[in-house]
Amino acid sequence: MSNVTVCVRFRPLSSKEKKDLGDNICIQSMDSETVIIKDEKEEGFAFSFDKVFYEESKQADVYEFLVLPIVRDTVNSINGTIITYGQTGAGKTYSMEGPNILESDEKKKGILPRVVDGLFACIKTSADSTKYTVKLSMVEIYMEKVRDLFDLSKDNIQIKESKTQGIVLSGATEISLSDTAEALQSLSSGIANRAIGETQMNMASSRSHCVYMFTLNQESISEKRVKSGKLILVDLAGSEKVEKTGAEGRVLEEAKTINKSLSALGNVINALTCGSPAKANHIPYRDSKLTRMLQDALGGNSRTALLCCCSPSPSNASESLSTLRFGARAKHIKTSPLVKVSEEKCSKKNGDASGTRDESFEKILEKMSERLNDEDIKLLEELFIQAGLFVDPDSEEDLESAIQDVVQQTISSLMKAVEELRSTVEMLQRENNAMKGRLAVAERCDALPGENADFLHKIFGFLSSFIPEM
Ligand code: ADP
Ligand code: MG
Repeated sequence: MSNVTVCVRFRPLSSKEKKDLGDNICIQSMDSETVIIKDEKEEGFAFSFDKVFYEESKQADVYEFLVLPIVRDTVNSINGTIITYGQTGAGKTYSMEGPNILESDEKKKGILPRVVDGLFACIKTSADSTKYTVKLSMVEIYMEKVRDLFDLSKDNIQIKESKTQGIVLSGATEISLSDTAEALQSLSSGIANRAIGETQMNMASSRSHCVYMFTLNQESISEKRVKSGKLILVDLAGSEKVEKTGAEGRVLEEAKTINKSLSALGNVINALTCGSPAKANHIPYRDSKLTRMLQDALGGNSRTALLCCCSPSPSNASESLSTLRFGARAKHIKTSPLVKVSEEKCSKKNGDASGTRDESFEKILEKMSERLNDEDIKLLEELFIQAGLFVDPDSEEDLESAIQDVVQQTISSLMKAVEELRSTVEMLQRENNAMKGRLAVAERCDALPGENADFLHKIFGFLSSFIPEM
């Protein structure tokens, strides 16, 4: 079990910050791991992280410390996630992409082009007996909708959980990448599509989360099995408090939604770090598309790194302080990355011409899929759902309503049980009162002298037989 790697990066002062407050900065470097930040009241707070990158830090430093180990893990089929967090203008996109994704200046290249270089370099040096395929998906989360950046018509991608692959983006375009140049072109077209979407929807990129997902499959020819590693990079929306005053309509909705998904992220981190280790507490991954997408990264099978981006200017001190607090909290998350063999290809035994059970299944399915068209598949699905053979896993709404049904059923059966209990109690009370009455009469009879008492006892015995025994 390892902790999430958390680093902080301070960008250089912007020309506007310099114009407003000169060369003043609100941070003081203690060493490469500890920084002191002063808030507006000049109160100092010390924070320690895995590494603090100051203004003069190089893009290559960030990549080598934070990202390269995760890229190497991805090649070894351990999933990885790299997240940039911070207020708008703090340097998230600069760190992730560089000044431009097709930037040719080696020094300025961001994490993404370096990841592409790193992945293909690792592949080149690996054994000849392993065949690699690299695929890329790019999506954007805006107003709780996941949009495919390689196909803008897919504007509501569903997030699903698969037993073998973990969290997957259902139906998102996957582009096969054969080399670095092709990968950069694909990234560039996705980024361009993001800009088109922004203009169409009248939004700014700082208001949406951008997710880059690389999937690396490796087929070992000698061992006859396929392993896969997923590397997710997330350029988050600006973490600053969105001004709601005066905001109305779409702007207000947008403000609420962005706050919601980032606060859902904060809640997930709190739940992951506050719960007692002995007791599994509920982690609210389903509260937002963002946390659902990061479920593997934060709570499971993934090596995760967080880069908290900050401005060093006193004018942004309170936002930088809250970014550092977020990072400090995330530092306590523990993950347990595992190698997942996504698909075990069974080897044919010598002389066994019939093939294995799995292979014959595969062959039948393959033949069937060649004959069936989309319409047939839909009809078959419908038939299976109606026969109760499987629940349609496509729709999250269906799942939610199924959960609500179960909750409703549980509530009504509990109410029924309470009703039964209440009538039993009433019956017992009535019985009790009757007994008390009989007892009182019996006591009075006992108090009467001789013959009168015997006579009354007889009458009472006779009358008692009409009072039902319970
Ligand atoms: P964000 O994505 O967090 O909103 P950007 O990455 O777009 O912020 O950065 C805002 C501005 O600051 C950009 O003009 C960018 O070029 C510049 N910048 C950010 N980080 C650095 C850095 N480390 N070195 C030089 N310029 C930077
Ligand atoms: Mg940005």
